[in-house]
Amino acid sequence: MAGKVYLVGAGPGDPELLTIKAIRAIGEADVLLVDALVDRRVLVHARAGARVVDVGKRGGCPSTPQAFIERLAIESARAGRVVARVKGGDPFVFGRGSEEAERFAEAGLHVEVIPGVTAAIAAAASAGIALTARGIAQGATFVTGQAADADEPDWAALARARTTLVLYMAAAALPRIARSLAAGGLAPTTPVAIVERATCDGERCRRALLRDFFDAASAPPVAAPAIVVIGDAVATARRRDAIAGSVPAPSAGMRRAVA
Ligand code: SAH
Repeated sequence: MAGKVYLVGAGPGDPELLTIKAIRAIGEADVLLVDALVDRRVLVHARAGARVVDVGKRGGCPSTPQAFIERLAIESARAGRVVARVKGGDPFVFGRGSEEAERFAEAGLHVEVIPGVTAAIAAAASAGIALTARGIAQGATFVTGQAADADEPDWAALARARTTLVLYMAAAALPRIARSLAAGGLAPTTPVAIVERATCDGERCRRALLRDFFDAASAPPVAAPAIVVIGDAVATARRRDAIAGSVPAPSAGMRRAVA
């Protein structure tokens, strides 16, 4: 029998945003390979005796090499153990999920991908922003702010696309991105929302304008992990309390599970 690997999306942080399928896969696993951005509370669903391996960057330590993660998953699955590769958000959104799925499939393993609530969706909900809205934004584009040179997104084209831009991993490059978008024709007064640690403790949502980021020296600081939303849809945020940011308290059931 081919071994089994689940690629599990664990959502943006709040453990109540796990899917029921993710909970089942986490509970079925003998070996869990868990990324840094995954909230440890999701592991309450792991069975007693399951091996949990932290493979992400934590406390300034270097992250586990990708080849090691893949080898451990493949060896464990071949030995008959059910493996859950647990990733933040959705495994196929900026999560190297496709590369891993390919390696596992090449190794002859059965791979099941379990989608998760990606950070963009969670951040928008926390900030009260509708990413698409009739007459305002005809779509939303998820873009990395941390691409290698050759892979750099076409900011000028994105500036003209009239969709909401949702930037992942953009904390460091935001001033450069803001200037590129403006050079491409996006109005300097376009509203921007920054959502740090969406759905996690310490969540913070702030509003600004595109032009506030042009000068790196005076740009609002952005602490990772953060989602940056750019576009007129940001103005759809109606509730000021949502923009100020507040994480809803976990339900009584979740508090019991975590205790
Ligand atoms: N697969 C993940 C993304 C991994 S890339 C997903 O689907 O969400 C890591 C980036 O995701 C971070 O740099 C940040 O831009 C974003 N991110 C992940 N979790 C976040 C959170 N709780 N709040 C804000 N941004 C988050």
